[in-house]
Amino acid sequence: MSEFSLIDQYCRNLGFKHDETRIGVGDDGAVLDIPNGTQLVVSVDTMVEGVHFLANVAPAKLAHKLIAVNVSDIGAMGGKAKWATLALTLPEQNHSWLKDFSSGLDAAAKYFGVELVGGDTTRGPLTLSLQVMGLVEAGKALLRSGARSGDAVLVTGSLGDAALALSLLKQNIIPAEKLLNALEQPQPPIEFAYRCAHLASAAIDVSDGLLADLAHVAMASQVSMAIGMKFIPFSEEFLAAAGKPDLALSGGDDYQLAFTVSPENLDEVFVVAKQLNIRLSQIGKVTNKHSELVSLFGNDGKIIDQDAEGYDHF
Ligand code: ADP
Ligand code: MG
Repeated sequence: MSEFSLIDQYCRNLGFKHDETRIGVGDDGAVLDIPNGTQLVVSVDTMVEGVHFLANVAPAKLAHKLIAVNVSDIGAMGGKAKWATLALTLPEQNHSWLKDFSSGLDAAAKYFGVELVGGDTTRGPLTLSLQVMGLVEAGKALLRSGARSGDAVLVTGSLGDAALALSLLKQNIIPAEKLLNALEQPQPPIEFAYRCAHLASAAIDVSDGLLADLAHVAMASQVSMAIGMKFIPFSEEFLAAAGKPDLALSGGDDYQLAFTVSPENLDEVFVVAKQLNIRLSQIGKVTNKHSELVSLFGNDGKIIDQDAEGYDHF
């Protein structure tokens, strides 16, 4: 099959349909209307076999994760994901793989409200790169730099489930379903993020590990943070499998939302969380800047020495 019929068969008409799409797959570029009063938010994430996923992961699950990790970034900016382009690098033409990947991508893209409007297809080691474009109200993007001393630090969901699943799989142990789903089919709280964008002062999606990601916010905002170990949200499945706290603090791959909120908006974000049935935990406070960006306090009130750097590819 030629590259062009492959694109036609597996990469056309995927995902949601947006009125603002003038030209999608099929021309040299996509043409998209950007409504007045909005700005484009753009983010890209690449998944490489052996680095970001194991070789035996089902293609439909890969497709879900590829979309989820990208819409998570747009959500953390307070935006709504709308379009995506896909750079697909394939070692061979495996039609059953492509068929499953394509239908998984279609389903996940519809689920997250994203339309596939273009891409690139090449041969090489299996690599999936998705660029997502979203819209945010002009001037209202939620940045890492807005945290202020006195703000509360919050996080959605539970942490460490994905990292625990990966560590179990590497030991040839089958993880509980909830843990495996956290790893293979993350559910970033995008609706919650969108509805809290005007309430939060800063946000980041937790992809590299909570403490490392909070440190990015603290650095960008020129503040420090005090986090209480006793507030870190663990799932029942995580506790039942005796997951190490370190997996929740620096494991990564959580795709939950960590954010800061001024005291006057604190009640309101809990109201939104309740409406959307989202677990929400206040895990600490923003303080004036001092030598440590993020300090972790144990149950005895003493600072826990951590050398949690998060996942770093280099
Ligand atoms: P060009 O050579 O002009 O860059 P291509 O031949 O690479 O164009 O692609 C033809 C059309 O198919 C373009 O609209 C491109 O965006 C789209 N396309 C190519 N690969 C993919 C893909 N993996 N997913 C979605 N669209 C794709
Ligand atoms: Mg061209």
